[in-house]
Amino acid sequence: MKNNISSFSKIGQITDKFSRPLRDLRISVIDRCNFRCPYCMPSDKYGKNHQFMPKKDWLSAGEIKRIAQLFMQLGVEKVRLTGGEPLLRKDILDIVSNLSSLPNLNDLALTTNGSFLADKAKDLKALGLDRITISLDSIDKGIFREMSGGKGNLDNVLNGIEVARKVGLGPIKLNVVIQKEVNDSSVLDLLDYFRGTGVIVRFIEFMDVGTLNNWKLDHVVSSADLLEIISRKWKLVPVKKNYFGEVARRYSYQDGQGEIGFISSVSKPFCGDCNRARISADGTIYTCLFASKGMNIRNFMRSGSTDNDLMNILQKQWRERVDRYSELRKDVVKKKKLSRIEMYTMGG
Ligand code: SAM
Ligand code: SF4
Ligand code: SF4
Repeated sequence: MKNNISSFSKIGQITDKFSRPLRDLRISVIDRCNFRCPYCMPSDKYGKNHQFMPKKDWLSAGEIKRIAQLFMQLGVEKVRLTGGEPLLRKDILDIVSNLSSLPNLNDLALTTNGSFLADKAKDLKALGLDRITISLDSIDKGIFREMSGGKGNLDNVLNGIEVARKVGLGPIKLNVVIQKEVNDSSVLDLLDYFRGTGVIVRFIEFMDVGTLNNWKLDHVVSSADLLEIISRKWKLVPVKKNYFGEVARRYSYQDGQGEIGFISSVSKPFCGDCNRARISADGTIYTCLFASKGMNIRNFMRSGSTDNDLMNILQKQWRERVDRYSELRKDVVKKKKLSRIEMYTMGG
């Protein structure tokens, strides 16, 4: 029977060409955003007349649920909603409610720039969202504003974080992208602000995602350098991985004031453990953040393909996967400029 998941047996955990299982699914629900972070959607390239995806191409809340169910048959246990800015999507609560009703989904999370969070946090929690990650690049008003492309309001985001914490969307994690001579000077103040609050600050190395963010290796502050700077102020103790495929290297403050993390895609690639598939708002499947092409499944869904047909397509995509861009970065960067999908399209 069409669209009936119970009409086929669970295939179970599938693996790619390097024996990496499929566990994690990132769903970008929208390609638009109210910020213009220069490392993601620089405002000179994404002006007023920029053509985003037509809304009719976005997967509907029902289609998102269907595709998530199919991925879960292949081993996915965790889903993260992202974008663009996912809270700009008018039916985000329907999307969350649909996904949280899936019985075998262990973890439903969402990444947001936090600007609409104060209004939405309570409903998101009530409808079954487990956790939230907020992107916040600086606790300095001016630097924050600059890093949001002149669009963000720091107090608004801090208020959103506080509301999310109060309604129980924790443990709350912060994503902080560090760029040399842009926000590295405000790292200690940011940590000082959140120490002892239970909020986990994670530093992300500035990545060469997409082709428009003017990435250069010497704009990256390595996690090792950052760790050294932070360790001069606070004693840190390494913490064991929570689970296979965890991308952040975790440290706790020796004085018990919480935990921080480092995501070192540039200096210490983790492709060997990478168990993530990504799907863009228009239903294109990507098996790597640095992919230059994906496979659109929306057209198959809308032209009557059965769940079994779709499962075969998804399985094939993962079983043939050989991506390990970050491990090859140095050679690739030296040799040629690749075409790559932009980060806001497929989500972080
Ligand atoms: N708009 C939401 C937000 O900013 O949280 C979700 C989408 S955003 C593309 C997801 C994550 O990707 C954010 O934490 C953002 O900081 C990160 N990101 C975007 N461009 C990046 C880059 N060039 N290097 C490292 N991280 C990046
Ligand atoms: Fe928008 Fe997030 Fe990209 Fe910033 S990082 S421009 S908030 S999608
Ligand atoms: Fe995974 Fe691609 Fe990142 Fe490697 S470069 S960790 S394969 S998303």
